[in-house]
Amino acid sequence: MWFIYLIISLFLNTRSRLKKSIVRANRLFFPIAFLYTTTMYDCMIKVAINGYGTIGKRVADAVAAQKDMKVIGVSKTRPNAEAFVAKQRGFPLYIADLSKKGAFEKAGLTVTGSVEDMCRAADVIVDATPGDVGATNKPLYEKLGKKALWQGGEEHDVAGFSFNSSCNYKDAIGRQFVRVVSCNTTGLCRIIHEIDKEYGVAHVHAIMVRRGSDPGEIKKGPIDAVVLDPVSVPSHHGPDVLTVLPHLSITTMAMIVPTTMMHMHAIQITTKKPVSRDRVIDLIKNHPRLGLIKKTLGIKSTAELKEFAMDLGRQRSDLWENCIFEESIYAHKNELCFFQAIHQEADVVVENIDAIRAMVGLEKDAAKSILTTNAALGLNLIQNNH
Ligand code: NAD
Repeated sequence: MWFIYLIISLFLNTRSRLKKSIVRANRLFFPIAFLYTTTMYDCMIKVAINGYGTIGKRVADAVAAQKDMKVIGVSKTRPNAEAFVAKQRGFPLYIADLSKKGAFEKAGLTVTGSVEDMCRAADVIVDATPGDVGATNKPLYEKLGKKALWQGGEEHDVAGFSFNSSCNYKDAIGRQFVRVVSCNTTGLCRIIHEIDKEYGVAHVHAIMVRRGSDPGEIKKGPIDAVVLDPVSVPSHHGPDVLTVLPHLSITTMAMIVPTTMMHMHAIQITTKKPVSRDRVIDLIKNHPRLGLIKKTLGIKSTAELKEFAMDLGRQRSDLWENCIFEESIYAHKNELCFFQAIHQEADVVVENIDAIRAMVGLEKDAAKSILTTNAALGLNLIQNNH
């Protein structure tokens, strides 16, 4: 803004015939505008991303897109392709092990400092290191007295509070430590909570067909098997949902299949009151993070969904919302069934942004934070595109 006023002032100054009073007013306004913008920049939440991988790089871009927060640094352990993405984005690069600084610099990557330096400079640290590594970073965050949030690969106990924007945003306000639940749990919490508010949920039975690996993970499988994960019932997803919605009754089963695109959930909910299919469709349409795949789209697979997201020009073809198949929605008396696809790399990203806002206490209203996050990312729900 101050830059625009500088240009206008210079322009007016060169037009000597224009009234001197206008010029004077602009001369006064310029320093005020400059001070205003620099102060606003300083008021932004300073976010550090510890672990710039599948989730970390997405959260970094999502932070950078928000008006009230900025990325002050990202961390890497080795100079791989993602480190060059960080460089291209202009994110200062920090490393976990300073003895590797030479390897980064040899590759043409400037190292700003250590992970500890980065954390020191941050208001909030998003820990997106691999599952179970994150917990080992907690003593550092405690030592520095910083706010930190972890991902679903960590146990609930690491933060003592598990988060989902649609379910418990208010309870995260002002907290030092928060854990954003996993991709599957996020997808389950969003829709179950919505149905629970309307009808009351007596019991949920959900079967998760999970992707074997993310697209970039070349060493993971399976290549040709359906793997029960675990063989025993329940899978960890049900208990994980209870960390956010403790009053629910839920049983989950899970298996892993040879795909990288998305997870698919088959969900059956027994409600306390009779359920209406039309009303459920309305609830989905009115929710800021629930997407509806209508019959008109003619899509019946995760592959076609990802292709559609790519064609829509979504960044990284990310689907931040649940993708619920309208035709699969079956409601009879107190029973509700449907399929939903969940993009594992994306749905938790928007939750991280809301969690940051809640922890800092900048926005007390969940709905407002969710809309701000969505708008900054240009999230136009999938049902609005067909
Ligand atoms: P990832 O392996 O893609 O990325 C992790 C990053 O952390 C890598 O860049 C790695 O170099 C870096 N790293 C490793 N050790 C580090 C250390 N000690 N200090 C700093 N950086 C370090 O992992 P991911 O898939 O992004 O998963 C991160 C977290 O998000 C995990 O808890 C995971 O369970 C969770 N999660 C993953 C997905 C998914 O589908 N990938 C979905 C939801 C939640």
